[in-house]
Amino acid sequence: MSASSDDRLAHRLARAQAVADARGLALTTLRRQVYTLIAASERPIGAYDLLDALEPQRGRVPPTTVYRVLDFLVEHGFVHRIESKNAFLACCDVEHPHQGQFLICEACGEAVEIPGAELAQQLAGSAPAHGFEVRRQVVELSGLCASCQRDPHGAP
Ligand SMILES: [Zn+2]
Ligand SMILES: [Zn+2]
Repeated sequence: MSASSDDRLAHRLARAQAVADARGLALTTLRRQVYTLIAASERPIGAYDLLDALEPQRGRVPPTTVYRVLDFLVEHGFVHRIESKNAFLACCDVEHPHQGQFLICEACGEAVEIPGAELAQQLAGSAPAHGFEVRRQVVELSGLCASCQRDPHGAP
């Protein structure tokens, strides 16, 4: 891991800790470890990959325990669940709770969060006119990221 990605991770952790402190949420050791693994990953990471990555630090953690931690992190906006991948991505703006919207590369699996609450609000706001009650909102655009467009055969 390069120095700059270490810095970026440290910055994300500090922001998440500050948000947790401000809202009176306990970032327990396991919650922090799971968040750190998600924040360090360029790609959305699934629960079973998280279990494997935790093993050197924690031993075998029961899947239900990790799912509870993931529920907590999603509920409080520290991470987003990428529905189409059944995987998790660290939020880019933990200070402002929002629905996420994402660009997901079909070739390398990288996912990028697109900031901007207006689009999500506009979509959700159109529902009542149809007598519709929104329970869950998923905005995921799939395609090719810039580097996979340049080098379609170089993708892992
Ligand atoms: Zn977000
Ligand atoms: Zn890609």
